Amino acid sequence: MKAVYPGSFDPVTSGHIDIIERASKVFDEVIIGVLVNANKKASFTLDERVKLIKKATKDFKNVRVEQFDGLAVDFAKNNDAKVIVRGLRAVSDFVSEIQIAQANQFINDEIDTMFFTTSLKYAFLSSTAVKEMILFGADIKGLVPECIREEVISKIKNQ
Ligand code: ADP
Repeated sequence: MKAVYPGSFDPVTSGHIDIIERASKVFDEVIIGVLVNANKKASFTLDERVKLIKKATKDFKNVRVEQFDGLAVDFAKNNDAKVIVRGLRAVSDFVSEIQIAQANQFINDEIDTMFFTTSLKYAFLSSTAVKEMILFGADIKGLVPECIREEVISKIKNQ
Protein backbone atom coordinates (compact mmCIF):
# COMPACT_ATOMS: atom_id res chain seq x y z
CA MET A 1 0.00 0.00 0.00
CA LYS A 2 1.21 3.48 -0.89
CA ALA A 3 0.94 6.61 1.23
CA VAL A 4 1.59 10.28 0.59
CA TYR A 5 3.00 12.65 3.21
CA PRO A 6 2.11 16.22 2.26
CA GLY A 7 3.48 19.34 3.94
CA SER A 8 5.35 22.57 3.45
CA PHE A 9 8.64 21.30 4.93
CA ASP A 10 10.04 24.82 5.33
CA PRO A 11 12.55 23.31 6.11
CA VAL A 12 12.31 19.56 6.80
CA THR A 13 13.12 18.79 10.46
CA SER A 14 14.13 15.69 12.39
CA GLY A 15 10.47 15.47 13.48
CA HIS A 16 9.39 15.09 9.83
CA ILE A 17 12.16 12.55 9.18
CA ASP A 18 11.02 10.54 12.19
CA ILE A 19 7.50 10.35 10.73
CA ILE A 20 8.88 9.49 7.26
CA GLU A 21 11.09 6.73 8.63
CA ARG A 22 8.26 5.18 10.63
CA ALA A 23 5.78 5.48 7.75
CA SER A 24 8.31 3.86 5.40
CA LYS A 25 8.24 0.77 7.62
CA VAL A 26 4.44 0.55 7.50
CA PHE A 27 3.79 1.32 3.82
CA ASP A 28 5.33 -0.17 0.68
CA GLU A 29 6.01 3.29 -0.65
CA VAL A 30 5.86 6.79 0.83
CA ILE A 31 5.66 9.76 -1.51
CA ILE A 32 6.50 13.05 0.15
CA GLY A 33 4.53 15.94 -1.32
CA VAL A 34 6.13 19.34 -0.95
CA LEU A 35 3.45 21.97 -1.19
CA VAL A 36 4.05 24.51 -3.96
CA ASN A 37 1.87 27.27 -2.55
CA ALA A 38 2.10 27.03 1.20
CA ASN A 39 -0.41 29.35 2.92
CA LYS A 40 2.27 30.74 5.13
CA LYS A 41 5.02 32.57 3.30
CA ALA A 42 7.89 30.13 2.93
CA SER A 43 11.45 31.00 3.99
CA PHE A 44 12.90 28.46 1.55
CA THR A 45 11.98 28.35 -2.14
CA LEU A 46 10.17 25.29 -3.44
CA ASP A 47 13.36 24.05 -5.11
CA GLU A 48 15.31 24.47 -1.89
CA ARG A 49 12.67 22.65 0.17
CA VAL A 50 12.60 19.76 -2.32
CA LYS A 51 16.40 19.58 -2.52
CA LEU A 52 16.81 19.54 1.28
CA ILE A 53 14.23 16.82 1.81
CA LYS A 54 15.66 14.70 -1.04
CA LYS A 55 19.10 14.92 0.53
CA ALA A 56 17.71 14.06 3.98
CA THR A 57 15.77 11.00 2.75
CA LYS A 58 18.22 9.60 0.20
CA ASP A 59 18.85 6.46 2.28
CA PHE A 60 15.18 5.45 2.43
CA LYS A 61 14.70 3.16 -0.53
CA ASN A 62 10.90 3.28 -0.64
CA VAL A 63 10.57 7.04 -0.21
CA ARG A 64 10.44 9.59 -3.01
CA VAL A 65 9.89 13.32 -3.11
CA GLU A 66 7.52 15.22 -5.40
CA GLN A 67 6.15 18.72 -5.43
CA PHE A 68 2.44 19.37 -5.64
CA ASP A 69 -0.10 22.12 -5.87
CA GLY A 70 -3.77 21.96 -4.93
CA LEU A 71 -5.58 19.27 -2.96
CA ALA A 72 -3.73 16.59 -1.01
CA VAL A 73 -6.41 14.04 -1.98
CA ASP A 74 -5.71 14.75 -5.66
CA PHE A 75 -1.99 14.36 -5.04
CA ALA A 76 -2.74 11.00 -3.37
CA LYS A 77 -5.04 9.89 -6.19
CA ASN A 78 -2.56 10.89 -8.91
CA ASN A 79 0.07 8.77 -7.18
CA ASP A 80 -2.29 5.83 -6.71
CA ALA A 81 -2.08 6.19 -2.91
CA LYS A 82 -4.99 5.45 -0.60
CA VAL A 83 -3.53 7.01 2.53
CA ILE A 84 -2.46 10.50 3.55
CA VAL A 85 0.05 10.49 6.42
CA ARG A 86 0.18 13.38 8.88
CA GLY A 87 2.01 13.87 12.15
CA LEU A 88 0.46 14.85 15.47
CA ARG A 89 2.41 16.67 18.14
CA ALA A 90 -0.03 18.28 20.55
CA VAL A 91 -3.75 18.79 21.02
CA SER A 92 -3.45 21.93 18.89
CA ASP A 93 -2.35 19.79 15.92
CA PHE A 94 -5.31 17.49 16.53
CA VAL A 95 -7.81 20.36 16.33
CA SER A 96 -6.63 21.53 12.92
CA GLU A 97 -5.68 18.12 11.53
CA ILE A 98 -9.06 16.53 12.22
CA GLN A 99 -10.77 19.30 10.25
CA ILE A 100 -8.40 18.85 7.32
CA ALA A 101 -8.87 15.06 7.44
CA GLN A 102 -12.65 15.38 7.50
CA ALA A 103 -12.66 17.91 4.66
CA ASN A 104 -10.46 15.55 2.66
CA GLN A 105 -12.79 12.68 3.37
CA PHE A 106 -15.72 14.78 2.17
CA ILE A 107 -13.87 15.47 -1.08
CA ASN A 108 -12.75 11.89 -1.65
CA ASP A 109 -13.89 9.15 0.71
CA GLU A 110 -11.64 6.55 -0.89
CA ILE A 111 -8.60 8.15 0.68
CA ASP A 112 -8.01 7.97 4.42
CA THR A 113 -5.78 10.02 6.67
CA MET A 114 -3.56 8.15 9.10
CA PHE A 115 -1.75 9.91 11.93
CA PHE A 116 1.59 9.13 13.44
CA THR A 117 2.12 10.59 16.89
CA THR A 118 5.38 12.42 17.31
CA SER A 119 8.26 10.81 19.14
CA LEU A 120 8.44 12.58 22.50
CA LYS A 121 11.86 14.07 21.83
CA TYR A 122 10.46 15.95 18.83
CA ALA A 123 7.16 17.02 20.38
CA PHE A 124 8.21 20.69 20.60
CA LEU A 125 9.84 20.74 17.19
CA SER A 126 8.53 22.67 14.19
CA SER A 127 10.08 24.32 11.14
CA THR A 128 9.22 27.70 12.70
CA ALA A 129 10.98 26.79 15.97
CA VAL A 130 14.11 25.78 14.05
CA LYS A 131 14.18 29.09 12.18
CA GLU A 132 13.67 31.13 15.34
CA MET A 133 16.37 29.22 17.18
CA ILE A 134 18.82 29.91 14.36
CA LEU A 135 17.96 33.62 14.31
CA PHE A 136 18.50 33.89 18.06
CA GLY A 137 21.75 31.95 17.96
CA ALA A 138 20.69 28.66 19.58
CA ASP A 139 22.35 25.37 18.67
CA ILE A 140 19.99 23.30 16.45
CA LYS A 141 22.11 20.15 16.43
CA GLY A 142 19.80 17.14 16.22
CA LEU A 143 16.77 19.18 15.22
CA VAL A 144 17.37 18.91 11.48
CA PRO A 145 19.19 16.08 9.67
CA GLU A 146 22.94 16.55 10.03
CA CYS A 147 23.54 16.49 6.25
CA ILE A 148 21.46 19.67 5.75
CA ARG A 149 22.22 21.53 8.99
CA GLU A 150 24.83 23.95 7.62
CA GLU A 151 22.75 24.74 4.56
CA VAL A 152 19.68 25.51 6.68
CA ILE A 153 21.62 27.70 9.11
CA SER A 154 23.36 29.70 6.39
CA LYS A 155 20.14 30.31 4.44
CA ILE A 156 18.25 31.58 7.51
CA LYS A 157 21.15 33.69 8.75
CA ASN A 158 21.62 35.34 5.37
CA GLN A 159 18.00 36.21 4.75
P1 ADP B 1 1.94 21.93 7.04
O1 ADP B 1 2.27 23.33 6.70
O2 ADP B 1 1.13 21.22 6.01
O3 ADP B 1 1.44 21.70 8.45
P2 ADP B 1 4.53 21.00 7.90
O4 ADP B 1 5.70 20.88 7.01
O5 ADP B 1 4.58 22.04 8.97
O6 ADP B 1 3.33 21.18 6.91
O7 ADP B 1 4.20 19.61 8.57
C1 ADP B 1 3.86 18.48 7.82
C2 ADP B 1 3.31 17.41 8.74
O8 ADP B 1 4.31 17.00 9.65
C3 ADP B 1 2.13 17.86 9.60
O9 ADP B 1 1.23 16.78 9.71
C4 ADP B 1 2.75 18.17 10.93
O10 ADP B 1 1.83 18.02 11.99
C5 ADP B 1 3.83 17.12 10.98
N1 ADP B 1 4.95 17.49 11.86
C6 ADP B 1 5.65 18.63 11.87
N2 ADP B 1 6.59 18.63 12.83
C7 ADP B 1 6.48 17.43 13.46
C8 ADP B 1 7.13 16.81 14.58
N3 ADP B 1 8.09 17.44 15.25
N4 ADP B 1 6.75 15.57 14.93
C9 ADP B 1 5.75 14.96 14.27
N5 ADP B 1 5.07 15.47 13.24
C10 ADP B 1 5.43 16.70 12.84
